[in-house]
Amino acid sequence: MLQTTLAGSLPKPSWLAEPERLWAPWKLSGGDLEQAKLDATILAVKMQEDAGIDIVSDGEQARVHFVHGFLANLDGIDFGKRTVIGIRADRYKAEVPTVVGPIRRKGSVHGAEARAARAHAGRKLKFTLPGPMTIVDTIADEHYRSRRDLAFAFATALNEEARELEGIGVDVVQFDEPAFNVYMREVAEWGIAALEAARQGLRCKTAVHICYGYGIRANVDWKETLGSEWRQYEETFPLIAKSSIDQVSLECRNSHVPIELIRLLDGKDVLVGAIDVASDAVETPEEVAETIRAALRFVAPEKLYPCTNCGMAPMKREVAYGKLAALAAGAHLVRTELGRS
Ligand code: ZN
Repeated sequence: MLQTTLAGSLPKPSWLAEPERLWAPWKLSGGDLEQAKLDATILAVKMQEDAGIDIVSDGEQARVHFVHGFLANLDGIDFGKRTVIGIRADRYKAEVPTVVGPIRRKGSVHGAEARAARAHAGRKLKFTLPGPMTIVDTIADEHYRSRRDLAFAFATALNEEARELEGIGVDVVQFDEPAFNVYMREVAEWGIAALEAARQGLRCKTAVHICYGYGIRANVDWKETLGSEWRQYEETFPLIAKSSIDQVSLECRNSHVPIELIRLLDGKDVLVGAIDVASDAVETPEEVAETIRAALRFVAPEKLYPCTNCGMAPMKREVAYGKLAALAAGAHLVRTELGRS
């Protein structure tokens, strides 16, 4: 119980990509880059295990960005045709590739790093993929002309990839849907349905991560406009509770999310964010324990997984791994209190 895990991404070593940046360019190319991605994946697994994390991830070491990494081996996308669009309801600008034809998965996207992580992880392994709605929100479209149709096209490709990951031995496939906190009406209309299409037929655990974004300036500014109570989850959680998704990863530590909203996830595993990814201040184990204790008022310990608020890709490496160690230590404190260490 109280098994620790993380939202997904971790900082890359400086020999692989420029540190502390989103969309950081690679420092190598060709075969050297492919080998370095696998080396970094194995290192990330090892460092998570050393930090005491129970369900580790590949750290997203082999992708330039959590969305665009998945697009790398799909037909129908022109990476040369780049447009600057406002994403997450124009919260910030991103230069994105363009959908120019039918979306089709050409072959394995993440198989190589999933196999490397599986071969070296002694514990349960989680692998993250972007959710259909979040992909649609992070790409330009000149072909489908319908966000819903495009989402279902991506869901088919995601499902193929997820089945391959399951076959490799991944224990949890997680879909990242930060867009679920932005487009509430579309979540109800087709977002959940597209997510279910992406996970259909999987026998491994499936999770959805819904957050308020990486700790970058645009997100920090946006959060300041959301008022004293963030109630976006109140609309989506009842829909997810009725879905076939097993686990929900959400933001909690230092956020204005009323913790009692996790009651709405009755029956699901709840991955409670006990680590703030927008601050370099490493939480103490006691601070982590406080967040876990607050969540335990609404979720049974068997259903509660202490986690990070979001990915840690843009953070300093030593800070990120320091926070993971604090997460593990905080969970250990609470397990001891409950007499289950
Ligand atoms: Zn996130």
